[in-house]
Amino acid sequence: MQHLPSNPLQPAILAAAPRCLARTRSGTECRSPAVKGRRRCRMHGGTNPGAPAGNRNAWKHGGRAGASLSEARQLRAMLMLAKQIDHRSPQIEN
Ligand SMILES: [Zn+2]
Repeated sequence: MQHLPSNPLQPAILAAAPRCLARTRSGTECRSPAVKGRRRCRMHGGTNPGAPAGNRNAWKHGGRAGASLSEARQLRAMLMLAKQIDHRSPQIEN
C-alpha cells in the first residue's frame, strides 16, 4: 500500500517526520515517527527528558562541598591570625 497524502491514518506531516532509529529486538530500526525536535519516537525515549543535571546519587554528605571547603579555609585563616597575636603583650591591670 502506498502512502497517500490524504491517508487519514497517517497525515502527511506524520509521514514526513524523521524516523526513529532505535534498534528493535529483531535488530531492525524502529522507523516510527520521531518526537518533534528529538531523534527517537515516543516509545523509545523521545519524550523522556533524560537524567537530571548533575550526579545527585554520589552526594553522601557536604564535607567536601564547595561551601564547606571555603568555610574551613576561612576558619584556618582566622586561626593563623589568632596564633600570630603576641600573648606576651602587657596586660591591662584593673
Ligand atoms: Zn522508536
